[in-house]
Amino acid sequence: MRDDASLRERIFNRDGNRCVYCAGLFPPEQLSLDHVQPRARGGDNSPGNLVTACLACNTRKGHQPAWAWLAELPGERANFLRYGTAVWTRLRRAVEEAAKS
Ligand SMILES: [Zn+2]
Repeated sequence: MRDDASLRERIFNRDGNRCVYCAGLFPPEQLSLDHVQPRARGGDNSPGNLVTACLACNTRKGHQPAWAWLAELPGERANFLRYGTAVWTRLRRAVEEAAKS
């Protein structure tokens, strides 16, 4: 699995150093790679499963899938759908669907 500096840099650049959950802009040392679908739940290191998240948001999200964590957080969910445009469609759809149930 590639979880190296170049992958981090690539995803941070793609997302413009913006946390997709709180929409804040951060220096790279305050950012982390977040798996939309956690690795423990079968998610991998594909760019379509990775987003830029600040350390605070990543800590709050923990090991939950993004759709479970965002279901009760309309503000963060809206940010994710606005800024997480490189996320796979099926994962974006899971976030939208979880909010309705
Ligand atoms: Zn954040």
